[in-house]
Amino acid sequence: MQELLDRKKGLHRTVLIVDDEAVEREILGAMLNDQYEVIFAANGLTALDIIKNEKNRLSLILLDLHMPELDGYSLLKILRSNGELWRIPVIVLTSEKGAEVKSLQLGAADFISKPYEAPDVIRARVEHSIELAEDKIIILEMERDGLTGLFNKDFFFEYARRLDNQNNNMLMDAIVLDVNRFHIINELYGRAYGDSLLKKIGSSIHELVCQTGGLACRSSSNSFGLYVPHIEKPKEQIPQFISMIEENLDDRKISIRIGIYSDDGSKVDMEQRFERAGLVCRKIKNSYSTCFEIYNDELHCKELHSERLINDMDKALAEKQFKVFYQPKYNICGDKPVLKSVEALVRWFHPEYGVIPPNEFITLFEDNGLIRLLDVYVWNEAANQIKQWKNEGFDIPVSVNVSRVDIFNPRLSEILIDIIEKNGIESKSLLLEITESAYSDNAQQIINAVMILRERGFKIEMDDFGSGYSSLNMLCSLPIDALKLDMEFIRTICTKKKDYRLVGIMIEIARLLEVPVIAEGVETKEQLNLLKILGCDIIQGYYFSKPLPADEMTSLIKSEARSD
Ligand code: C2E
Ligand code: CA
Ligand code: CA
Repeated sequence: MQELLDRKKGLHRTVLIVDDEAVEREILGAMLNDQYEVIFAANGLTALDIIKNEKNRLSLILLDLHMPELDGYSLLKILRSNGELWRIPVIVLTSEKGAEVKSLQLGAADFISKPYEAPDVIRARVEHSIELAEDKIIILEMERDGLTGLFNKDFFFEYARRLDNQNNNMLMDAIVLDVNRFHIINELYGRAYGDSLLKKIGSSIHELVCQTGGLACRSSSNSFGLYVPHIEKPKEQIPQFISMIEENLDDRKISIRIGIYSDDGSKVDMEQRFERAGLVCRKIKNSYSTCFEIYNDELHCKELHSERLINDMDKALAEKQFKVFYQPKYNICGDKPVLKSVEALVRWFHPEYGVIPPNEFITLFEDNGLIRLLDVYVWNEAANQIKQWKNEGFDIPVSVNVSRVDIFNPRLSEILIDIIEKNGIESKSLLLEITESAYSDNAQQIINAVMILRERGFKIEMDDFGSGYSSLNMLCSLPIDALKLDMEFIRTICTKKKDYRLVGIMIEIARLLEVPVIAEGVETKEQLNLLKILGCDIIQGYYFSKPLPADEMTSLIKSEARSD
Protein backbone atom coordinates (compact mmCIF):
# COMPACT_ATOMS: atom_id res chain seq x y z
CA MET A 1 0.00 0.00 0.00
CA GLN A 2 2.81 2.43 0.96
CA GLU A 3 4.52 1.66 -2.33
CA LEU A 4 1.34 2.53 -4.15
CA LEU A 5 0.94 5.79 -2.23
CA ASP A 6 4.53 6.75 -3.09
CA ARG A 7 3.87 6.02 -6.72
CA LYS A 8 0.71 8.10 -6.51
CA LYS A 9 2.78 11.04 -5.34
CA GLY A 10 4.44 10.89 -8.75
CA LEU A 11 7.52 8.90 -7.86
CA HIS A 12 8.77 5.73 -9.53
CA ARG A 13 6.00 5.14 -12.03
CA THR A 14 7.09 2.65 -14.64
CA VAL A 15 5.27 1.85 -17.87
CA LEU A 16 5.92 -1.07 -20.17
CA ILE A 17 5.52 -0.62 -23.92
CA VAL A 18 4.96 -3.89 -25.78
CA ASP A 19 5.21 -3.64 -29.56
CA ASP A 20 7.06 -5.68 -32.18
CA GLU A 21 7.65 -2.54 -34.31
CA ALA A 22 10.79 -0.80 -33.04
CA VAL A 23 9.79 2.55 -34.55
CA GLU A 24 6.38 2.51 -32.86
CA ARG A 25 8.02 1.65 -29.52
CA GLU A 26 10.38 4.55 -29.84
CA ILE A 27 7.75 7.12 -30.83
CA LEU A 28 5.58 6.22 -27.88
CA GLY A 29 8.57 5.96 -25.53
CA ALA A 30 9.69 9.45 -26.50
CA MET A 31 6.26 10.82 -25.65
CA LEU A 32 6.32 9.32 -22.15
CA ASN A 33 9.91 9.23 -20.95
CA ASP A 34 9.81 12.72 -19.44
CA GLN A 35 7.19 11.64 -16.96
CA TYR A 36 7.74 7.91 -16.55
CA GLU A 37 10.40 5.34 -16.48
CA VAL A 38 9.75 3.48 -19.72
CA ILE A 39 10.74 -0.12 -20.41
CA PHE A 40 10.16 -2.09 -23.60
CA ALA A 41 9.31 -5.55 -24.85
CA ALA A 42 9.33 -6.63 -28.50
CA ASN A 43 6.84 -9.47 -28.19
CA GLY A 44 4.19 -10.97 -25.92
CA LEU A 45 6.35 -13.67 -24.38
CA THR A 46 9.18 -11.35 -23.33
CA ALA A 47 6.51 -8.97 -22.04
CA LEU A 48 4.95 -11.68 -19.85
CA ASP A 49 8.35 -12.44 -18.30
CA ILE A 50 8.98 -8.77 -17.56
CA ILE A 51 5.47 -8.32 -16.14
CA LYS A 52 5.88 -11.29 -13.81
CA ASN A 53 9.25 -10.05 -12.56
CA GLU A 54 8.27 -6.39 -12.25
CA LYS A 55 4.64 -6.78 -11.18
CA ASN A 56 5.03 -4.58 -8.11
CA ARG A 57 6.77 -1.83 -10.03
CA LEU A 58 4.62 -1.57 -13.16
CA SER A 59 1.99 1.16 -13.23
CA LEU A 60 0.74 0.49 -16.76
CA ILE A 61 1.18 -1.67 -19.86
CA LEU A 62 0.78 -0.27 -23.38
CA LEU A 63 0.06 -3.29 -25.52
CA ASP A 64 0.12 -3.75 -29.27
CA LEU A 65 -2.39 -6.33 -30.46
CA HIS A 66 -0.62 -7.90 -33.39
CA MET A 67 2.68 -9.49 -32.53
CA PRO A 68 4.39 -12.78 -33.24
CA GLU A 69 4.69 -15.54 -30.60
CA LEU A 70 2.04 -14.28 -28.17
CA ASP A 71 -0.36 -11.66 -29.48
CA GLY A 72 -1.92 -8.83 -27.50
CA TYR A 73 -5.34 -10.45 -27.03
CA SER A 74 -3.82 -13.62 -25.58
CA LEU A 75 -1.54 -11.69 -23.24
CA LEU A 76 -4.48 -9.58 -22.09
CA LYS A 77 -6.46 -12.72 -21.31
CA ILE A 78 -3.59 -14.15 -19.28
CA LEU A 79 -3.19 -10.95 -17.29
CA ARG A 80 -6.88 -10.54 -16.50
CA SER A 81 -7.25 -14.06 -15.17
CA ASN A 82 -4.12 -13.95 -13.02
CA GLY A 83 -4.73 -13.30 -9.30
CA GLU A 84 -1.68 -11.06 -9.00
CA LEU A 85 -1.34 -9.43 -12.41
CA TRP A 86 -4.93 -8.31 -13.00
CA ARG A 87 -4.32 -5.12 -11.03
CA ILE A 88 -1.96 -3.65 -13.65
CA PRO A 89 -3.99 -1.59 -16.14
CA VAL A 90 -3.51 -2.21 -19.87
CA ILE A 91 -4.00 0.27 -22.71
CA VAL A 92 -4.35 -1.40 -26.08
CA LEU A 93 -2.54 0.07 -29.13
CA THR A 94 -4.36 -0.60 -32.37
CA SER A 95 -4.95 0.53 -35.93
CA GLU A 96 -7.66 -2.04 -36.49
CA LYS A 97 -11.29 -0.97 -36.66
CA GLY A 98 -13.49 -2.83 -34.17
CA ALA A 99 -10.58 -4.01 -32.04
CA GLU A 100 -11.43 -1.46 -29.37
CA VAL A 101 -14.66 -3.13 -28.29
CA LYS A 102 -13.09 -6.57 -28.12
CA SER A 103 -10.14 -5.25 -26.07
CA LEU A 104 -12.37 -3.42 -23.63
CA GLN A 105 -14.44 -6.57 -23.24
CA LEU A 106 -11.27 -8.49 -22.41
CA GLY A 107 -10.54 -6.01 -19.66
CA ALA A 108 -8.38 -3.32 -21.24
CA ALA A 109 -8.54 0.00 -19.40
CA ASP A 110 -8.49 2.09 -22.59
CA PHE A 111 -7.22 2.06 -26.17
CA ILE A 112 -5.02 4.36 -28.26
CA SER A 113 -5.38 4.37 -32.05
CA LYS A 114 -2.45 4.18 -34.40
CA PRO A 115 -1.11 6.31 -35.96
CA TYR A 116 -0.65 8.15 -32.69
CA GLU A 117 -2.54 11.35 -31.96
CA ALA A 118 -0.99 14.45 -30.37
CA PRO A 119 1.41 13.58 -27.48
CA ASP A 120 -0.67 15.61 -25.03
CA VAL A 121 -3.72 13.46 -25.65
CA ILE A 122 -1.74 10.26 -25.23
CA ARG A 123 -0.10 11.45 -22.02
CA ALA A 124 -3.49 12.42 -20.62
CA ARG A 125 -4.96 8.99 -21.43
CA VAL A 126 -1.99 7.22 -19.86
CA GLU A 127 -2.20 9.28 -16.70
CA HIS A 128 -5.94 8.84 -16.43
CA SER A 129 -5.73 5.03 -16.68
CA ILE A 130 -2.98 4.87 -14.07
CA GLU A 131 -4.87 7.09 -11.64
CA LEU A 132 -8.07 5.11 -12.04
CA ALA A 133 -6.35 1.78 -11.47
CA GLU A 134 -4.48 3.06 -8.42
CA ASP A 135 -7.61 4.51 -6.86
CA LYS A 136 -9.39 1.23 -7.43
CA ILE A 137 -6.67 -0.68 -5.60
CA ILE A 138 -6.65 1.76 -2.68
CA ILE A 139 -10.42 1.36 -2.32
CA LEU A 140 -10.11 -2.42 -2.62
CA GLU A 141 -7.50 -2.52 0.13
CA MET A 142 -9.55 -0.27 2.39
CA GLU A 143 -12.63 -2.41 2.13
CA ARG A 144 -10.77 -5.64 2.82
CA ASP A 145 -9.30 -7.05 5.98
CA GLY A 146 -5.54 -7.34 5.49
CA LEU A 147 -5.23 -10.75 7.12
CA THR A 148 -8.05 -12.74 5.55
CA GLY A 149 -8.88 -10.72 2.46
CA LEU A 150 -12.55 -10.74 3.46
CA PHE A 151 -14.52 -7.49 3.65
CA ASN A 152 -14.22 -5.17 6.62
CA LYS A 153 -17.38 -4.84 8.67
CA ASP A 154 -18.56 -1.43 7.43
CA PHE A 155 -18.12 -2.22 3.73
CA PHE A 156 -19.69 -5.61 4.31
CA PHE A 157 -22.90 -4.09 5.66
CA GLU A 158 -22.96 -1.56 2.83
CA TYR A 159 -22.53 -4.24 0.14
CA ALA A 160 -25.01 -6.55 1.86
CA ARG A 161 -27.59 -3.78 1.71
CA ARG A 162 -26.83 -3.20 -1.96
CA LEU A 163 -27.19 -6.92 -2.59
CA ASP A 164 -30.63 -6.77 -0.99
CA ASN A 165 -31.64 -3.87 -3.20
CA GLN A 166 -30.50 -5.70 -6.31
CA ASN A 167 -32.33 -8.96 -5.66
CA ASN A 168 -35.14 -7.64 -3.55
CA ASN A 169 -37.08 -10.81 -2.86
CA MET A 170 -34.32 -13.29 -2.36
CA LEU A 171 -34.11 -14.69 1.18
CA MET A 172 -30.69 -14.16 2.73
CA ASP A 173 -29.46 -15.62 6.05
CA ALA A 174 -27.20 -13.75 8.45
CA ILE A 175 -24.49 -15.88 10.04
CA VAL A 176 -22.04 -15.05 12.80
CA LEU A 177 -19.07 -17.37 13.15
CA ASP A 178 -16.72 -17.30 16.12
CA VAL A 179 -13.71 -19.25 17.38
CA ASN A 180 -14.05 -20.69 20.87
CA ARG A 181 -11.41 -19.65 23.41
CA PHE A 182 -9.42 -17.86 20.72
CA HIS A 183 -7.67 -15.51 23.14
CA ILE A 184 -6.25 -18.50 24.99
CA ILE A 185 -4.91 -19.97 21.75
CA ASN A 186 -3.31 -16.61 21.02
CA GLU A 187 -1.77 -16.45 24.46
CA LEU A 188 -0.52 -20.03 24.49
CA TYR A 189 0.76 -20.39 20.95
CA GLY A 190 1.47 -16.79 19.96
CA ARG A 191 -0.15 -14.29 17.67
CA ALA A 192 1.45 -15.61 14.52
CA TYR A 193 -0.19 -18.98 15.06
CA GLY A 194 -3.51 -17.32 15.87
CA ASP A 195 -3.24 -15.29 12.67
CA SER A 196 -2.51 -18.38 10.60
CA LEU A 197 -5.69 -20.00 11.97
CA LEU A 198 -7.77 -16.93 11.15
CA LYS A 199 -6.34 -16.93 7.63
CA LYS A 200 -7.37 -20.54 7.12
CA ILE A 201 -10.85 -19.85 8.46
CA GLY A 202 -11.05 -16.82 6.16
CA SER A 203 -10.21 -18.91 3.12
CA SER A 204 -12.77 -21.61 4.03
CA ILE A 205 -15.39 -18.89 4.35
CA HIS A 206 -14.28 -17.33 1.08
CA GLU A 207 -14.63 -20.70 -0.64
CA LEU A 208 -18.13 -21.11 0.77
CA VAL A 209 -19.41 -17.72 -0.37
CA CYS A 210 -17.87 -18.30 -3.80
CA GLN A 211 -19.94 -21.49 -4.06
CA THR A 212 -23.20 -20.23 -2.60
CA GLY A 213 -23.04 -16.57 -3.54
CA GLY A 214 -23.21 -13.87 -0.92
CA LEU A 215 -20.64 -11.93 1.07
CA ALA A 216 -18.38 -12.40 4.05
CA CYS A 217 -16.42 -10.22 6.44
CA ARG A 218 -14.13 -10.42 9.41
CA SER A 219 -16.10 -8.39 11.90
CA SER A 220 -13.73 -8.38 14.85
CA SER A 221 -10.53 -10.14 15.83
CA ASN A 222 -11.92 -13.67 15.86
CA SER A 223 -15.42 -13.28 14.59
CA PHE A 224 -16.79 -13.41 11.07
CA GLY A 225 -20.03 -12.43 9.36
CA LEU A 226 -21.59 -14.19 6.38
CA TYR A 227 -24.53 -13.06 4.33
CA VAL A 228 -25.61 -15.96 2.17
CA PRO A 229 -28.67 -17.16 0.25
CA HIS A 230 -31.19 -18.82 2.59
CA ILE A 231 -30.07 -22.21 3.86
CA GLU A 232 -32.98 -24.63 3.57
CA LYS A 233 -31.64 -27.33 5.85
CA PRO A 234 -29.33 -25.57 8.32
CA LYS A 235 -29.32 -28.53 10.71
CA GLU A 236 -27.60 -30.60 8.04
CA GLN A 237 -25.60 -27.99 6.18
CA ILE A 238 -24.15 -25.93 9.02
CA PRO A 239 -22.47 -28.86 10.82
CA GLN A 240 -20.98 -29.87 7.45
CA PHE A 241 -19.62 -26.39 6.97
CA ILE A 242 -18.19 -26.34 10.50
CA SER A 243 -16.48 -29.71 9.96
CA MET A 244 -15.05 -28.45 6.69
CA ILE A 245 -13.48 -25.44 8.45
CA GLU A 246 -12.25 -27.50 11.38
CA GLU A 247 -10.66 -30.06 9.06
CA ASN A 248 -8.89 -27.27 7.19
CA LEU A 249 -7.55 -25.97 10.48
CA ASP A 250 -6.10 -29.36 11.31
CA ASP A 251 -5.88 -28.54 15.02
CA ARG A 252 -8.19 -30.43 17.36
CA LYS A 253 -7.93 -27.80 20.06
CA ILE A 254 -9.84 -25.32 17.94
CA SER A 255 -13.61 -25.36 17.69
CA ILE A 256 -15.93 -23.10 15.77
CA ARG A 257 -19.40 -21.96 16.72
CA ILE A 258 -22.07 -20.44 14.53
CA GLY A 259 -25.21 -18.40 15.17
CA ILE A 260 -27.78 -18.05 12.39
CA TYR A 261 -30.57 -15.64 11.78
CA SER A 262 -32.67 -17.48 9.24
CA ASP A 263 -34.48 -15.14 6.86
CA ASP A 264 -38.25 -15.64 6.81
CA GLY A 265 -38.96 -12.63 4.63
CA SER A 266 -39.90 -10.39 7.56
CA LYS A 267 -37.51 -7.64 6.42
CA VAL A 268 -35.71 -7.10 9.69
CA ASP A 269 -33.04 -4.40 9.58
CA MET A 270 -29.63 -5.71 8.44
CA GLU A 271 -27.71 -4.81 11.62
CA GLN A 272 -30.42 -6.38 13.75
CA ARG A 273 -30.26 -9.65 11.85
CA PHE A 274 -26.57 -9.87 12.59
CA GLU A 275 -27.14 -8.85 16.20
CA ARG A 276 -29.58 -11.74 16.54
CA ALA A 277 -27.19 -14.19 14.90
CA GLY A 278 -24.50 -12.86 17.28
CA LEU A 279 -26.82 -13.28 20.25
CA VAL A 280 -27.36 -16.99 19.60
CA CYS A 281 -23.69 -17.41 18.79
CA ARG A 282 -22.78 -15.94 22.21
CA LYS A 283 -25.35 -18.18 23.84
CA ILE A 284 -23.39 -21.30 22.91
CA LYS A 285 -20.01 -19.81 23.77
CA ASN A 286 -17.57 -22.50 24.88
CA SER A 287 -20.26 -25.18 24.83
CA TYR A 288 -18.87 -28.65 24.23
CA SER A 289 -22.12 -30.09 22.97
CA THR A 290 -23.50 -27.40 20.66
CA CYS A 291 -21.66 -25.84 17.76
CA PHE A 292 -24.50 -23.90 16.16
CA GLU A 293 -27.77 -22.29 17.11
CA ILE A 294 -30.62 -20.84 15.08
CA TYR A 295 -32.38 -17.72 16.26
CA ASN A 296 -36.05 -18.57 16.85
CA ASP A 297 -39.39 -17.14 17.95
CA GLU A 298 -38.95 -18.05 21.59
CA LEU A 299 -35.70 -16.11 21.70
CA HIS A 300 -37.39 -13.33 19.83
CA CYS A 301 -40.15 -13.09 22.45
CA LYS A 302 -37.58 -13.17 25.22
CA GLU A 303 -35.64 -10.42 23.52
CA LEU A 304 -38.75 -8.28 23.14
CA HIS A 305 -39.65 -8.88 26.77
CA SER A 306 -36.14 -7.89 27.85
CA GLU A 307 -36.26 -4.78 25.70
CA ARG A 308 -39.59 -3.85 27.22
CA LEU A 309 -38.25 -4.29 30.75
CA ILE A 310 -35.23 -2.13 29.97
CA ASN A 311 -37.48 0.56 28.50
CA ASP A 312 -39.81 0.47 31.49
CA MET A 313 -37.08 0.68 34.08
CA ASP A 314 -36.80 4.49 34.44
CA LYS A 315 -40.51 4.94 34.88
CA ALA A 316 -40.64 2.01 37.30
CA LEU A 317 -37.99 3.63 39.49
CA ALA A 318 -39.77 6.99 39.42
CA GLU A 319 -43.12 5.39 40.25
CA LYS A 320 -41.63 3.12 42.92
CA GLN A 321 -42.82 -0.04 41.20
CA PHE A 322 -39.85 -1.82 42.75
CA LYS A 323 -40.67 -3.07 46.24
CA VAL A 324 -38.12 -4.34 48.70
CA PHE A 325 -39.04 -7.52 50.57
CA TYR A 326 -37.22 -8.75 53.66
CA GLN A 327 -36.32 -12.29 54.60
CA PRO A 328 -35.23 -13.00 58.20
CA LYS A 329 -31.96 -14.68 59.15
CA TYR A 330 -32.00 -16.64 62.41
CA ASN A 331 -29.09 -17.40 64.66
CA ILE A 332 -29.37 -21.09 65.60
CA CYS A 333 -26.35 -21.35 67.92
CA GLY A 334 -28.44 -21.25 71.11
CA ASP A 335 -31.38 -23.42 72.22
CA LYS A 336 -33.89 -21.24 70.48
CA PRO A 337 -33.49 -19.57 67.04
CA VAL A 338 -33.09 -15.79 67.34
CA LEU A 339 -33.95 -13.33 64.59
CA LYS A 340 -30.70 -11.44 64.03
CA SER A 341 -30.93 -9.67 60.68
CA VAL A 342 -32.77 -9.67 57.35
CA GLU A 343 -31.89 -9.73 53.65
CA ALA A 344 -33.40 -7.14 51.31
CA LEU A 345 -34.69 -8.73 48.09
CA VAL A 346 -36.26 -6.68 45.37
CA ARG A 347 -39.46 -7.44 43.44
CA TRP A 348 -40.91 -5.54 40.52
CA PHE A 349 -44.65 -4.84 40.67
CA HIS A 350 -45.10 -4.24 36.97
CA PRO A 351 -48.42 -2.61 35.98
CA GLU A 352 -48.87 -5.08 33.12
CA TYR A 353 -46.84 -8.20 33.92
CA GLY A 354 -47.64 -8.35 37.64
CA VAL A 355 -44.92 -9.30 40.12
CA ILE A 356 -41.64 -10.02 38.37
CA PRO A 357 -39.02 -11.94 40.39
CA PRO A 358 -35.47 -10.54 40.39
CA ASN A 359 -34.02 -13.46 38.45
CA GLU A 360 -35.88 -12.17 35.40
CA PHE A 361 -34.33 -8.72 35.39
CA ILE A 362 -31.14 -8.65 37.49
CA THR A 363 -28.82 -10.20 34.88
CA LEU A 364 -30.50 -8.14 32.19
CA PHE A 365 -29.77 -4.95 34.12
CA GLU A 366 -26.26 -6.17 34.91
CA ASP A 367 -25.58 -6.55 31.20
CA ASN A 368 -26.34 -2.92 30.47
CA GLY A 369 -25.27 -1.34 33.73
CA LEU A 370 -28.80 -0.28 34.79
CA ILE A 371 -28.38 -2.44 37.88
CA ARG A 372 -26.42 0.39 39.48
CA LEU A 373 -29.51 2.59 39.58
CA LEU A 374 -31.69 -0.20 40.90
CA ASP A 375 -29.20 -1.19 43.59
CA VAL A 376 -28.86 2.38 44.84
CA TYR A 377 -32.65 2.51 45.01
CA VAL A 378 -32.79 -0.73 47.02
CA TRP A 379 -29.97 0.38 49.34
CA ASN A 380 -31.83 3.62 50.04
CA GLU A 381 -35.04 1.77 50.79
CA ALA A 382 -33.18 -0.67 53.05
CA ALA A 383 -31.39 2.13 54.91
CA ASN A 384 -34.69 3.91 55.40
CA GLN A 385 -36.20 0.72 56.78
CA ILE A 386 -33.31 0.27 59.21
CA LYS A 387 -33.98 3.81 60.46
CA GLN A 388 -37.71 3.13 60.89
CA TRP A 389 -37.07 -0.07 62.86
CA LYS A 390 -34.46 1.77 64.89
CA ASN A 391 -37.03 4.46 65.68
CA GLU A 392 -39.37 1.74 66.91
CA GLY A 393 -36.60 0.35 69.14
CA PHE A 394 -35.38 -2.55 67.02
CA ASP A 395 -31.77 -2.92 65.98
CA ILE A 396 -32.08 -5.10 62.87
CA PRO A 397 -29.20 -5.01 60.39
CA VAL A 398 -30.24 -5.43 56.76
CA SER A 399 -28.06 -7.10 54.17
CA VAL A 400 -28.32 -5.83 50.62
CA ASN A 401 -27.06 -7.40 47.41
CA VAL A 402 -24.15 -5.65 45.73
CA SER A 403 -23.93 -6.59 42.08
CA ARG A 404 -20.62 -7.40 40.41
CA VAL A 405 -21.20 -4.29 38.31
CA ASP A 406 -21.29 -2.03 41.39
CA ILE A 407 -17.78 -3.16 42.29
CA PHE A 408 -16.41 -1.37 39.25
CA ASN A 409 -17.91 1.91 40.37
CA PRO A 410 -15.05 3.91 41.91
CA ARG A 411 -17.64 5.95 43.88
CA LEU A 412 -19.20 2.86 45.49
CA SER A 413 -18.09 3.60 49.05
CA GLU A 414 -19.04 7.28 48.76
CA ILE A 415 -22.52 6.34 47.57
CA LEU A 416 -23.01 3.93 50.46
CA ILE A 417 -21.66 6.39 53.04
CA ASP A 418 -23.98 9.03 51.65
CA ILE A 419 -26.95 6.69 52.03
CA ILE A 420 -26.24 5.77 55.66
CA GLU A 421 -25.50 9.36 56.65
CA LYS A 422 -28.69 10.58 55.03
CA ASN A 423 -30.67 8.05 57.06
CA GLY A 424 -28.73 8.55 60.28
CA ILE A 425 -27.71 4.90 60.60
CA GLU A 426 -24.34 3.21 61.15
CA SER A 427 -22.38 1.41 58.44
CA LYS A 428 -22.37 -1.80 60.45
CA SER A 429 -26.17 -1.96 60.10
CA LEU A 430 -25.99 -2.25 56.32
CA LEU A 431 -24.44 -5.62 55.46
CA LEU A 432 -23.18 -6.09 51.92
CA GLU A 433 -23.64 -9.39 50.07
CA ILE A 434 -21.29 -9.97 47.14
CA THR A 435 -21.57 -13.16 45.13
CA GLU A 436 -18.54 -15.45 45.10
CA SER A 437 -18.32 -15.61 41.30
CA ALA A 438 -17.68 -11.85 41.25
CA TYR A 439 -14.53 -12.55 43.26
CA SER A 440 -13.19 -15.09 40.82
CA ASP A 441 -14.01 -12.79 37.86
CA ASN A 442 -11.76 -10.05 39.00
CA ALA A 443 -10.02 -10.87 42.21
CA GLN A 444 -7.72 -7.90 42.69
CA GLN A 445 -10.26 -5.23 41.84
CA ILE A 446 -12.84 -6.71 44.17
CA ILE A 447 -10.35 -7.15 47.01
CA ASN A 448 -9.43 -3.47 46.72
CA ALA A 449 -13.05 -2.36 46.65
CA VAL A 450 -13.95 -4.57 49.60
CA MET A 451 -11.01 -3.34 51.67
CA ILE A 452 -12.12 0.25 51.22
CA LEU A 453 -15.69 -0.66 52.22
CA ARG A 454 -14.48 -2.47 55.33
CA GLU A 455 -12.33 0.50 56.32
CA ARG A 456 -15.53 2.51 56.21
CA GLY A 457 -17.12 0.07 58.65
CA PHE A 458 -19.26 -2.05 56.33
CA LYS A 459 -19.49 -5.79 56.84
CA ILE A 460 -19.08 -8.01 53.78
CA GLU A 461 -20.81 -11.35 53.29
CA MET A 462 -19.67 -13.64 50.50
CA ASP A 463 -22.86 -14.84 48.82
CA ASP A 464 -23.43 -18.14 46.99
CA PHE A 465 -20.22 -19.57 48.41
CA GLY A 466 -19.31 -22.83 46.65
CA SER A 467 -20.76 -21.79 43.29
CA GLY A 468 -17.63 -19.95 42.13
CA TYR A 469 -14.10 -21.18 41.90
CA SER A 470 -12.25 -19.40 44.66
CA SER A 471 -9.02 -21.12 45.50
CA LEU A 472 -8.28 -21.83 49.14
CA ASN A 473 -5.27 -19.64 48.75
CA MET A 474 -7.38 -16.70 47.59
CA LEU A 475 -9.98 -17.27 50.30
CA CYS A 476 -7.37 -16.91 53.03
CA SER A 477 -6.38 -13.48 51.81
CA LEU A 478 -9.95 -12.30 51.28
CA PRO A 479 -11.30 -9.58 53.48
CA ILE A 480 -14.75 -10.95 54.38
CA ASP A 481 -16.99 -11.08 57.45
CA ALA A 482 -19.31 -14.01 56.70
CA LEU A 483 -19.72 -16.89 54.27
CA LYS A 484 -23.13 -17.59 52.84
CA LEU A 485 -23.39 -21.10 51.42
CA ASP A 486 -24.80 -21.57 47.96
CA MET A 487 -28.42 -22.71 48.13
CA GLU A 488 -27.80 -25.62 45.74
CA PHE A 489 -25.88 -27.56 48.41
CA ILE A 490 -28.62 -27.02 50.98
CA ARG A 491 -31.29 -28.29 48.59
CA THR A 492 -29.66 -31.71 48.41
CA ILE A 493 -27.95 -31.85 51.78
CA CYS A 494 -30.37 -34.52 53.07
CA THR A 495 -30.28 -36.68 49.96
CA LYS A 496 -26.73 -36.43 48.62
CA LYS A 497 -24.00 -37.58 50.91
CA LYS A 498 -21.45 -35.72 48.81
CA ASP A 499 -23.21 -32.40 49.32
CA TYR A 500 -23.53 -33.04 53.04
CA ARG A 501 -19.75 -33.57 53.18
CA LEU A 502 -19.10 -30.52 51.05
CA VAL A 503 -21.19 -28.34 53.36
CA GLY A 504 -19.11 -29.73 56.25
CA ILE A 505 -15.90 -28.76 54.45
CA MET A 506 -17.19 -25.28 53.67
CA ILE A 507 -18.11 -24.76 57.31
CA GLU A 508 -14.58 -25.88 58.24
CA ILE A 509 -13.18 -23.29 55.86
CA ALA A 510 -15.32 -20.62 57.53
CA ARG A 511 -13.94 -21.71 60.91
CA LEU A 512 -10.45 -21.36 59.52
CA LEU A 513 -11.24 -17.86 58.31
CA GLU A 514 -12.91 -17.17 61.67
CA VAL A 515 -16.15 -15.96 60.11
CA PRO A 516 -19.73 -17.11 60.73
CA VAL A 517 -21.55 -19.34 58.22
CA ILE A 518 -24.99 -18.57 56.86
CA ALA A 519 -27.09 -21.22 55.12
CA GLU A 520 -29.91 -19.95 52.92
CA GLY A 521 -32.66 -21.85 51.16
CA VAL A 522 -33.39 -23.92 54.25
CA GLU A 523 -36.90 -25.30 53.84
CA THR A 524 -37.20 -28.24 56.21
CA LYS A 525 -36.56 -29.25 59.80
CA GLU A 526 -34.20 -32.02 58.57
CA GLN A 527 -32.03 -29.55 56.71
CA LEU A 528 -31.95 -27.30 59.76
CA ASN A 529 -30.92 -30.17 62.04
CA LEU A 530 -28.12 -31.35 59.75
CA LEU A 531 -26.78 -27.81 59.45
CA LYS A 532 -26.91 -27.42 63.19
CA ILE A 533 -24.91 -30.63 63.66
CA LEU A 534 -22.34 -29.40 61.13
CA GLY A 535 -21.93 -26.17 63.10
CA CYS A 536 -23.73 -23.67 60.88
CA ASP A 537 -24.43 -20.37 62.71
CA ILE A 538 -27.20 -18.62 60.83
CA ILE A 539 -30.19 -19.89 58.82
CA GLN A 540 -32.29 -18.15 56.20
CA GLY A 541 -35.07 -19.85 54.28
CA TYR A 542 -38.72 -20.74 53.85
CA TYR A 543 -38.50 -22.92 56.96
CA PHE A 544 -38.60 -19.72 58.99
CA SER A 545 -40.18 -17.33 56.53
CA LYS A 546 -40.44 -16.35 52.88
CA PRO A 547 -39.28 -12.85 51.96
CA LEU A 548 -41.98 -10.48 53.32
CA PRO A 549 -43.19 -6.98 52.47
CA ALA A 550 -41.85 -4.35 54.93
CA ASP A 551 -45.04 -4.12 57.05
CA GLU A 552 -45.29 -7.90 57.48
CA MET A 553 -41.60 -8.05 58.38
CA THR A 554 -42.20 -5.36 61.00
CA SER A 555 -45.01 -7.46 62.52
CA LEU A 556 -42.74 -10.51 62.57
CA ILE A 557 -39.98 -8.54 64.32
CA LYS A 558 -42.48 -7.33 66.90
CA SER A 559 -43.93 -10.76 67.57
CA GLU A 560 -40.40 -12.28 67.88
CA ALA A 561 -39.53 -9.54 70.38
CA ARG A 562 -42.65 -10.28 72.43
CA SER A 563 -41.94 -14.03 72.56
CA ASP A 564 -38.41 -13.38 73.88
P1 C2E B 1 -29.70 -14.46 46.45
O1 C2E B 1 -29.02 -13.20 46.90
O2 C2E B 1 -28.92 -15.71 46.54
O3 C2E B 1 -31.04 -14.53 47.28
C1 C2E B 1 -31.60 -15.69 47.75
C2 C2E B 1 -32.75 -16.14 46.92
O4 C2E B 1 -33.26 -17.33 47.45
C3 C2E B 1 -33.92 -15.16 46.93
O5 C2E B 1 -34.53 -15.25 45.67
C4 C2E B 1 -34.83 -15.78 47.99
O6 C2E B 1 -36.18 -15.40 47.85
C5 C2E B 1 -34.64 -17.24 47.71
N1 C2E B 1 -34.94 -18.07 48.86
C6 C2E B 1 -34.83 -17.76 50.17
N2 C2E B 1 -35.16 -18.81 50.93
C7 C2E B 1 -35.49 -19.82 50.10
C8 C2E B 1 -35.91 -21.17 50.30
O7 C2E B 1 -36.06 -21.67 51.41
N3 C2E B 1 -36.13 -21.93 49.19
C9 C2E B 1 -35.97 -21.43 47.95
N4 C2E B 1 -36.20 -22.21 46.91
N5 C2E B 1 -35.58 -20.15 47.70
C10 C2E B 1 -35.33 -19.35 48.79
P2 C2E B 1 -35.04 -13.98 44.93
O8 C2E B 1 -35.59 -13.00 45.88
O9 C2E B 1 -35.85 -14.45 43.80
O10 C2E B 1 -33.68 -13.37 44.41
C11 C2E B 1 -32.92 -14.02 43.47
C12 C2E B 1 -31.59 -13.37 43.27
O11 C2E B 1 -31.73 -12.07 42.72
C13 C2E B 1 -30.85 -13.14 44.58
O12 C2E B 1 -30.19 -14.30 44.94
C14 C2E B 1 -29.91 -12.03 44.22
O13 C2E B 1 -28.77 -12.54 43.59
C15 C2E B 1 -30.70 -11.25 43.22
N6 C2E B 1 -31.26 -10.05 43.83
C16 C2E B 1 -32.39 -9.91 44.55
N7 C2E B 1 -32.55 -8.63 44.93
C17 C2E B 1 -31.49 -7.94 44.46
C18 C2E B 1 -31.06 -6.56 44.49
O14 C2E B 1 -31.69 -5.67 45.09
N8 C2E B 1 -29.89 -6.24 43.87
C19 C2E B 1 -29.14 -7.18 43.24
N9 C2E B 1 -28.02 -6.80 42.64
N10 C2E B 1 -29.52 -8.46 43.17
C20 C2E B 1 -30.67 -8.85 43.78
CA1 CA C 1 -27.99 -12.45 48.50
CA1 CA D 1 -27.31 -16.53 47.61
